Amino acid sequence: MTANIGLFPGSFDPFTNGHLATVKRALSIFDKVIIAVVTNTRKNALFTTQEKVDLIETAVADLSNVEVIAAPQKLTVDLAVSLHASALIRGLRNANDFEYEAGIAQMNKAQNPDIETVFFVADQRYTFISSSMIKEVAAFNGDISALVPANVEEALKYKIQHQSV
Ligand code: ADP
Repeated sequence: MTANIGLFPGSFDPFTNGHLATVKRALSIFDKVIIAVVTNTRKNALFTTQEKVDLIETAVADLSNVEVIAAPQKLTVDLAVSLHASALIRGLRNANDFEYEAGIAQMNKAQNPDIETVFFVADQRYTFISSSMIKEVAAFNGDISALVPANVEEALKYKIQHQSV
C-alpha cells in the first residue's frame, strides 16, 4: 500500500507550539508528514530558511515519520505531487485564518483538483499564538517558554541579542 503523505507548508518564522501540535495531530491521520519551509516574499523573515529547517528538525526530533525540507520555488500543489503527498495540511485559529486559508485552498484546488487541503482547528491552548506575535513578545523579553519549543526560544534570544528584531 502506498504511504499517505501530508505536506505542511508554511513560513514558520519561527516554528511554534501551535505548529508542533498540528504536526502531531496530522500524524494520527497521515503515515508521514513533510514540513516544507516556504520563502514568503511578502513577509520579512527573521530566520533564514536553513535556520528554520534546522530549528524545526530539532523540535520534531522525537517524532517519527516527519521530514523537514526547504521548499523549492514552485507551486505548492506541484511540490505535493513531486513529494507524492496527497494532501496539504494547514491550521485554523480563527475566522481570519478561515477566510485566508479558504482562498488558498480553493486556488490550490483550481490548480490541481487531486490535492486536498486538510485543516486542523488549533488547539485551544495555542489559538492566540502567531509567529509574528512571538517575535514581538520575545523582542521585549517576554516569556515565550510555553509557546515555542525550547530550541526556538533559545534561537530567538540569540537573534535578539545579536541583531534587532
Ligand atoms: P504562512 O505564512 O504560510 O501562513 P505560518 O507559519 O504563519 O505560515 O503558518 C503555517 C500554518 O500554520 C497556517 O495554516 C497557519 O494558519 C497555521 N498556524 C499558525 N499558528 C498556528 C497555531 N498557533 N495553531 C495552529 N495552527 C497554526
